[in-house]
Amino acid sequence: MMEGKSWADSASNYDMWSRRNYLVATVGLAALSGCTGDTDDESEPTESGDDDEERPEGVTADEFERGPVPEVYVSATSLGNEQRNPDELRTKSAVSFSEYEEARENEGHTPGTCCANCADYIPDKNGDEFGACVEVEGYIDGADWCTIYEELPEPEVPEGMSEEELATAEVPEEYRTASSIGGEERDPDDLFSHEEVNLMESVDAIAEGVAPPGQSCGNCAEFIPDTNGDMWGACAKVEGFIAVEDWCAVWEHVSEEL
Ligand code: SF4
Ligand code: SF4
Repeated sequence: MMEGKSWADSASNYDMWSRRNYLVATVGLAALSGCTGDTDDESEPTESGDDDEERPEGVTADEFERGPVPEVYVSATSLGNEQRNPDELRTKSAVSFSEYEEARENEGHTPGTCCANCADYIPDKNGDEFGACVEVEGYIDGADWCTIYEELPEPEVPEGMSEEELATAEVPEEYRTASSIGGEERDPDDLFSHEEVNLMESVDAIAEGVAPPGQSCGNCAEFIPDTNGDMWGACAKVEGFIAVEDWCAVWEHVSEEL
């Protein structure tokens, strides 16, 4: 993994990141597409401590910590295709669960790793900005982390194709006009190139300070998940093959569209 100037080294909080990196990454895109850059303030993480207002409305501190989570997550499937079993979960304290900034102090933490790019993460399904986990109980934000973090497996290059071709290749028929998890229909004639949106792996983007913690294609409103079992998905905004652990500069929190 490439290691560079980290998010927390280059900015003390998300607002700082928004002002500096977001503009650098996307100002050209806005001009090209009419994109308003609405990933800025809207994608600000909401969990930053134990304050009541950081939890979803009506959720107690105990529920936030230990669950139960809303019904939609109870036996849901994670980004790595594992199914949650509510009877086989660990407590947050047992896995040194923490927010990203605190995780950076943990010697077991690898820069850039967070729940949003963990195989065990279940992204937000009810619009409250929090998801869940197939291994850990309670409410989970994409910018959290714990000691049993599991890297998402990298998809293999499909047969008959080279790695270089993935960026511009026509995606399989079932993805061409599919709808994303945020409900946007893909238009194959109106897509950004990987280069235009600085597509890269989420772990690298966060480690290098290009993205704030908590963002990956897996919790982006534009992502179209794998439907043919090859572990590649697609995107309603970007051409070519897209993996769940990727990230790009037009990332939009799926919560915004739920
Ligand atoms: S880092 Fe830990 S809490 Fe977060 S999704 Fe992975 S296993 Fe769950
Ligand atoms: S490529 Fe960009 S817009 Fe598409 S799903 Fe990934 S982060 Fe979202």
